[in-house]
Order: sequence, then C-alpha cells, then structure tokens
Amino acid sequence: MSTQKIKDEFRKAFGVTPKGIVAAPGRVNLIGEHTDYNDGFVLPIAIEQRTLAAWAPRDDGRVVFASLQQPNKCDEIDLCTAIETGQHAWGNYCRGVAAGLIENGIELAGCNILFDSNVPLNAGLSSSASLEVATGVALLAVCGSESSVKPHLLAKICQHAENTFAGAPCGIMDQSISVMGQANHALLLDCRSGQTRQIPFDAPNTVLLVVDTQVSHDIGDGGYPARRKQCEAAAEILGIPALRDATEEMIAQAVAASKISDLQMRRSRHVVTEIARTLAAADLLTFKADGYLQKFGELMYASHASLRDDFEVSCPELDTIVDLAIPRSGVFGARMTGGGFGGCAIVLVEENHAESVTQVISDGFKKQYHRRPPIFATHPAPGAMLIE
Ligand code: ADP
Ligand code: MG
Repeated sequence: MSTQKIKDEFRKAFGVTPKGIVAAPGRVNLIGEHTDYNDGFVLPIAIEQRTLAAWAPRDDGRVVFASLQQPNKCDEIDLCTAIETGQHAWGNYCRGVAAGLIENGIELAGCNILFDSNVPLNAGLSSSASLEVATGVALLAVCGSESSVKPHLLAKICQHAENTFAGAPCGIMDQSISVMGQANHALLLDCRSGQTRQIPFDAPNTVLLVVDTQVSHDIGDGGYPARRKQCEAAAEILGIPALRDATEEMIAQAVAASKISDLQMRRSRHVVTEIARTLAAADLLTFKADGYLQKFGELMYASHASLRDDFEVSCPELDTIVDLAIPRSGVFGARMTGGGFGGCAIVLVEENHAESVTQVISDGFKKQYHRRPPIFATHPAPGAMLIE
C-alpha cells in the first residue's frame, strides 16, 4: 500500500488527481479487554497498519465512496437529502460518519473518496474504526474544517456511526486510539469520563508481534452482546451503575448471600481484575522500574487467563498462540486482543528474538491447525493525520 498506488487508482476511478490524502490507523489493545462498556480503562496503541483516504472535490453535492477492498461496490450519498443506511454494508460506516458530522453542524461538501487499507479486515484490529476515522478526517479536509471538530468529538461521531449505521455495539476505544494515537505511546482511556492519558510505550529493542488466527470473529453474532448483558445484569444485582464500581469484596459478599450466579460472579471478577491490571500496566510503563517489562508481560498472561476462564471469550486458536508464547528468552508476555472469539493475539518480545519466536509460533500453530497464521511486527504509531 502506498500513496502512489492510491493516487494511480484514484485517477483510474475518478479521472482526476486527488487533492488530498489522509490516514487513520488500526489498533491493538495492550490490556483492558471487555472493560470499555463496563466504564473501565483500556490501554490500546495505534499500529502502523492504516487506512488511507484520497479525496477530490466534486460540484454536484454528492459524496462518492469507493474502496480498493470492496471493488465494484461504490457507495454514494446526496448531501441535500437525509442520510440513511445503504445497500453496501461497508458504506454504512462512511454514511454514519457523514451523518454525524452534519448533525454536529459541519457543512460538508461534495467529493469523491477512495480508500485503501493494510489493516486486515475482520481480524479484530479495528479496520472499521480506521475506515470511520479516515472518512471523518477526509470529509473535514474537503470542506476545510480540519480543526473544527475536536479529537474526542470525532471519536464519538465515529463510534456513533458504527453503533447506529453499522449496527455494531462497540465502545469508544477503537475510534479514540485511531484519532488520538501517538508514536511510541499507548493511550490510557477512562471509558467513563472519556479522559485520556498518553503513556510512554517506548522500550528500546522490543516489538509487538500480532498473530492473526484468521478465525472470523463477528462482533454482532451473539457472544459480544451476551457478555454486555451479563455485565449489566451483574452490576444491577450489585446495586452499582457499572462493574467499574465493583470490588472483589463486593462480589464475594454477593456470592455468600447467593445473590449472584456463578457465571455472573466470573464475568464480574474478570472486569474487576482486568481494570486493576490495566491501571497497574499503565503505572509500570510510566515509572519503568527494574524488570517492568517482565511484570507487564505477567499482566498480559493473567489477562489472557481471565478472558479464557472467567469471561470465556477466547478460542482454541488464541489459546494455542499464547501457550506457544510461554515466557522464554526474549518473550515478555502474550494475550488475546480485541473482542475475542477469534481475531488476533499479541506477543511482546525482544526485537532480536522476534524472528525465532515468530518461527516457533508459526510452526506450533501449523502443527495443530495445518496452516500458518499471518504474523507481523508492529510498534505504537501515530493517530489520524493529513498526509498530503
Ligand atoms: P474489524 O474492525 O475488527 O476489522 P469489523 O467487523 O468491526 O472488523 O469491521 C470490518 C468491516 O469494516 C468490513 O467487513 C468492511 O465492511 C468494513 N471495512 C473496514 N475497512 C474497510 C476498507 N478499507 N474498505 C471497505 N470496507 C472496510
Ligand atoms: Mg471493528
């Protein structure tokens, strides 16, 4: 994927040279899984894989969306009429963002937009948020309003687009990191207050391996909404607004009083302990005491175990990868990342061991599943930006 390629493809599709190109990254969450909709904390990084959007104005008040990942499935809206969902699922992410910007008082202008992305689609690396944020930044660039929507609001508009137009009940994490990511930093996001803090994630000679199980995960297939409902029900029984407010003692008391089921107890325990791990992880990265990466890695393994056993959102492929990435020379930690039921695992490794660890995981996975999972190395990358 290159800016030259998207320029060439844009000319082929629309017969003119694009006037601007913007980019928005995908993400991996270092730790803090299934905590977002419980008002908790998450700690994602933006990754080097990103979605590019090339644009040029058109003068008929229409916005045309095309994507190299969805050939022959152009989508089009008329800015003079109310925006509704359309026939192409992918176009709804873009439609939702356009509708959200208009709702927030932005006067959009007609344009052609072409997307190209090297964030793998449907792999749990948030290609959807990168598409939404690229759409938002491009639409704002077209009408010269780049600075009129603050980062937090842009993230909210994109999340709302995904919730309402694409029908995916995601939290605010993916869009926030795609907008606000910074090179060499993770973003500690308080999903209750919306407050964010940049956390240095800049240990020299370390990389994050992303291992794609290629098991299709569908955020709308029942597992994810079911977990949300179970968490809401547990919070109600505990008499608190969200599991963010729960403590382990509170859960133990509810168990002793037979007020909470075993399943609700385990779901709650995951959320409470995962929020604690996320805050501890942010502290480790901030203060960098001796051995902090080893301790960070231990939190990653503990997070995975909790997601596997208490929250039950892992799957055999993810467990295999984490089992292969046991603490060995060069490996700090590993866990599933994203909503689960497939998607990706991440492994934090020393750079000079990345190749051998990749080989071990690839071989071990192949032995079990008779195919090799795509594995790539990434570092914390910047959030959305204008490229040209
Ligand atoms: P994830 O965000 O984990 O990749 P989602 O199911 O949330 O998975 O979003 C994937 C969907 O987003 C795709 O099926 C497609 O509809 C849309 N999408 C993402 N990136 C692009 C792109 N570059 N071009 C067209 N559609 C895209
Ligand atoms: Mg997504």
